[in-house]
Amino acid sequence: MEAVAAAAEAREQLRASFASGRTRPAAWRAAQLRGLLRMAAEMEAEICAALRADLAKPRTESYVHEISLVTSSCKFALKNLKKWMKPNKVPAGMLTFPSAARVSAEPLGVVLVISAWNYPFLLAVDPVIGAIAAGNAVVLKPSEVAPATSALLADLLPRYVDGSCVRVVEGGIPETTALLEQKWDKIFYTGNGKVGRIVMSFAAKHLTPVVLELGGKCPVVVDCNVDLHVAAKRIASGKWGCNSGQACISPDYIITTKCFAPKLLDALKRVLDKFYGKEPLRSPDLSRIVNSNHFNRLQALMDEETVADKVVFGGESDEQQLKIAPTLLLDVPLDSTIMKEEIFGPLLPIITVDKIHESFGVINSMSKPLAAYLFSNDSMLKQQFEMNVSAGGMIFNDTAIHLTNPHLPFGGVGESGMGAYHGTFSFDAFAHKKAIVDRSFLGEATARYPPYTPAKLKILKGVLKGNPVAMVQAIAGFPGGA
Ligand code: NAD
Repeated sequence: MEAVAAAAEAREQLRASFASGRTRPAAWRAAQLRGLLRMAAEMEAEICAALRADLAKPRTESYVHEISLVTSSCKFALKNLKKWMKPNKVPAGMLTFPSAARVSAEPLGVVLVISAWNYPFLLAVDPVIGAIAAGNAVVLKPSEVAPATSALLADLLPRYVDGSCVRVVEGGIPETTALLEQKWDKIFYTGNGKVGRIVMSFAAKHLTPVVLELGGKCPVVVDCNVDLHVAAKRIASGKWGCNSGQACISPDYIITTKCFAPKLLDALKRVLDKFYGKEPLRSPDLSRIVNSNHFNRLQALMDEETVADKVVFGGESDEQQLKIAPTLLLDVPLDSTIMKEEIFGPLLPIITVDKIHESFGVINSMSKPLAAYLFSNDSMLKQQFEMNVSAGGMIFNDTAIHLTNPHLPFGGVGESGMGAYHGTFSFDAFAHKKAIVDRSFLGEATARYPPYTPAKLKILKGVLKGNPVAMVQAIAGFPGGA
């Protein structure tokens, strides 16, 4: 009951703030964005410390993958805010002559952002940037699975942004459920698809639109004509260099040809030795697994009967530290759990096929992924990959880096999510594009009004076909009447 009362109070207070018009002016929006920018700069050490406490995240990853992305999102929004807010004039059309037409971006109102634990600073603040830029009031519910970052956000946000319009509500399932029971103007959820379905069913009650940023199994197809050393480094960086594989766009599995697999495996092993040394569990550059539930889940994936003897590199773990070494598995069965569920951790299976084109069938037999990667120098294969593989995003010859480009939408398709954000897409996610036609009292076309007559229909047909004579006749009030 306490959670429900707190959720209702937060929503009511923000609704009153929004109704006051406070969030609408560009000056208010820019001030909040500048506040977030200052927060990221002044609190860098505190943010890194929270991320270290939650995930043992290396400082470089904390800065590059979380703080700097929040900073660049704020800067991009500040730079483009006026342009985004400006009504967009469009052709008015002869049918409504004389008139003007425009598309005006209006804020949706009071929105709810629910974020996930794996990039707990970025995934919380980045959608809030879009919501503020579009002129909304926001409730942010950070993930309780990253408690240090959640507490830090609850402490910092009121110090850097207008607390009457941006609120942080901490908590787990009861608190999130209480929030979901309220009526929002949009819900932006990042997390797994199971909870995505829960979010959507709550949203359906109020016909609330949702953005669902979900996950899935992101494939990496490796052709045999690649620069092997570069490919291995880029795969390793997107996997273990992204929160130990606990990233929604981390490579989930590799597909390569049977004859190329040994070379790729050797290259990956060499790169991993170089990145994390002979004792990777002691490397400060490898994040830990977020909690013992996920540690046990990952351990069980490796221990499954049909999978256990497929480990060809790594496999060590330390339950005390919640660390699992970078692990490569070769030719795990496609019906094993590790190939059926999103791995979300440092295990990387390699599937082999006779011909590289067979990879399309393997990928398409699963749910549509959030990202799909192909390493190849063959432009025909790239074209075929782009045409035949449906994914939220796609990169040729690298992994994960597409999310750094604010000109690209970031979001899933099918079971990897719906809607998108980043850059302009963040603003669009939180704005309603209102169609506006502005007419004068001139240009009264009587032909549109009853009583309908064959003569009126003839003129209307002419107008609809773009016949200039009919247009002049319509505007001049032909035929008379009405
Ligand atoms: P999580 O456990 O932090 O859950 C996400 C949010 O949902 C949290 O705020 C949590 O409080 C809330 N929640 C959990 N259970 C709930 C319930 N029963 N009812 C209502 N709310 C509930 O995060 P997670 O789901 O473990 O995150 C990992 C998943 O998220 C992976 O599938 C990953 O691929 C995906 N993900 C996607 C993106 C993206 O941008 N597309 C980014 C990060 C993670």
